[in-house]
Amino acid sequence: MRIPCPHCGTRESQEFVYRGDAAPVRPADDGAMFDYVYLRDNVAGVMREHWYHAQGCRQWIVVTRDTRSHAIDHAEFAR
Ligand SMILES: [Zn+2]
Repeated sequence: MRIPCPHCGTRESQEFVYRGDAAPVRPADDGAMFDYVYLRDNVAGVMREHWYHAQGCRQWIVVTRDTRSHAIDHAEFAR
């Protein structure tokens, strides 16, 4: 799979580290922390994911990808 880094251009996925779903937001209270850390959906379809370009620009990016086909719609810098 090739990932279009917004800074470096398209690179092999081996240069990146996968973090996972970009949708969950860190909860304010500790009571919801277990769900935030451990309970994730296993999406079959389009999802936004965090990837870290470890062997490139060392930026976190958000990749919109179809998990069934690995087709990437677009990528942008994470905020
Ligand atoms: Zn990069």
